[in-house]
Amino acid sequence: MHSPDDSRIRFTLTDEDATLALAQRIAAQLKPGMVIHLRGDLGAGKTTLVRGMLNALGYSGRVKSPTYTLVEPYHVNGLNLLHFDLYRLHDEAEWQAAGFRDEFDGYSIFLIEWPEKAQGLTPQADMEINLTILNEGRKAEVRANTETGKQCLEQL
Ligand code: ADP
Ligand code: MG
Repeated sequence: MHSPDDSRIRFTLTDEDATLALAQRIAAQLKPGMVIHLRGDLGAGKTTLVRGMLNALGYSGRVKSPTYTLVEPYHVNGLNLLHFDLYRLHDEAEWQAAGFRDEFDGYSIFLIEWPEKAQGLTPQADMEINLTILNEGRKAEVRANTETGKQCLEQL
């Protein structure tokens, strides 16, 4: 189902269950302080991946898209996770005003939708997941940028 490269793996996700299954495998590799960027068009499945990871860690509540609040915190299975959706982030001033920089404490796990809206403001991503909408299903490309990310990728 996937084709390995040096530090990137491509997956074909035929349906939502396949997206949730990939999320479950990623969830098993999450370490405190990890930063994951989630890229792809509206409806590509970024929030579905986050929901899948949270559910895999044991969170059974609703995972709502933090489109207006920009961030939603979770504490589950001994991990702090922050789910960002930066689609509506306007500028750096808004980012600073929200105090987001202080959140990057090297402990919480960051799952960031629309990281391109905060170019240069978020720390470097350990892993980047690019989702593409196909006629049927989705394509996911998972890339590792750091040693932590590579270790995670190797276990997928
Ligand atoms: P995003 O956060 O990227 O805007 P969402 O996760 O909110 O996207 O929505 C993705 C939609 O696509 C959901 O309706 C979900 O059920 C569906 N979906 C997720 N993964 C797949 C897949 N592999 N194939 C088809 N549909 C999918
Ligand atoms: Mg979303």
